[in-house]
Amino acid sequence: MKLIKLIANLGYGSRKDVAAMFRAGMITDAAGEVLYADDQVAHDAIRIDGEPLDPPAGLLLMLHKPVGYTCSTKDPGRIVYDLLPPRFRLRSPLLSTVGRLDRDTSGLLLLTDDGALLHRIVSPKAHLPKVYEAALANDLRGDEAALFASGTLLLEAENTPLAPARLEAVEPRLAHLTLIEGRYHQVRRMFAAVGNHVLSLHRSRIGGLALDDLPAGQWRALGDADRERLF
Ligand code: URA
Repeated sequence: MKLIKLIANLGYGSRKDVAAMFRAGMITDAAGEVLYADDQVAHDAIRIDGEPLDPPAGLLLMLHKPVGYTCSTKDPGRIVYDLLPPRFRLRSPLLSTVGRLDRDTSGLLLLTDDGALLHRIVSPKAHLPKVYEAALANDLRGDEAALFASGTLLLEAENTPLAPARLEAVEPRLAHLTLIEGRYHQVRRMFAAVGNHVLSLHRSRIGGLALDDLPAGQWRALGDADRERLF
């Protein structure tokens, strides 16, 4: 692919903007030699203002979503894309969140421009466990783990029972819940179905991938080793 197209697709600007960047000599190789719009150079060797180029298509990011941000691009309030470089919203193919977390939920959110990978992560058929940490308004009753594991729980206004889920009672009002599906407000509705109320919710893990010490509001691109840990 010609450099001008490659760089425009990464959201650095329109083709006209990128042409102007070439004319200004901002686009060079690793040794600082100026590159031209028609050049074909390996991705790794390209620098913009001396900085390596963003990762190519096939990008997978991990974001530690703070409370107060939505996953929608249309929300007039704060959105998760505000936490990423603005050009990430202009990439082609588009970068999408892998499923969603509610505005009031914090934790591990993946974003990718790879549609097949996205499908593989969210599909209940993949059985990829997602771990949620829920602080509750009331003490656990004691029967929740058996009910959630039974595969018979019906949420209000739905007619397909939930897939079995694993509940670990950490404290009387703190539970870790592992789900393999992602229905709308699922964790909050599951606890509502057993007469409880979720005060705060945090997703700590997807498959073998954990947030570790990534601070709230920060993101990082995932490499091959992370992808292997995921599945
Ligand atoms: N379940 C919920 O209720 N909310 C989330 O954000 C994720 C899972």
